[in-house]
Amino acid sequence: MNQTKKNSKQLIQQKITALFASNPSPQEIKKIKKLAMSKNIQLTSYKKKFCKNCFTFFTSTNHQVRIKKPYKMIICNHCGYHSKYKIYQNLEGVSNSTKV
Ligand SMILES: [Zn+2]
Repeated sequence: MNQTKKNSKQLIQQKITALFASNPSPQEIKKIKKLAMSKNIQLTSYKKKFCKNCFTFFTSTNHQVRIKKPYKMIICNHCGYHSKYKIYQNLEGVSNSTKV
């Protein structure tokens, strides 16, 4: 009966993609996050699609995006929470050239 464990992980991943394809409610996001965490599944790209604080799913109207190098800030209009993501990762590789 060990085969069902592998399948359940895939099933949850399918559930996650299906959920975020529609317009999930905060409760649904909370649930799926718990499920994913219990199976050690990372939400990676989906993490940026909802608010960390109130779990509101971001649509085109309920959040603001600010670029403040090297960070991208997403501001939730519902609770005002700021989430920061680094967007430039290779800045340090440039510094060791052109020194005479
Ligand atoms: Zn929020």
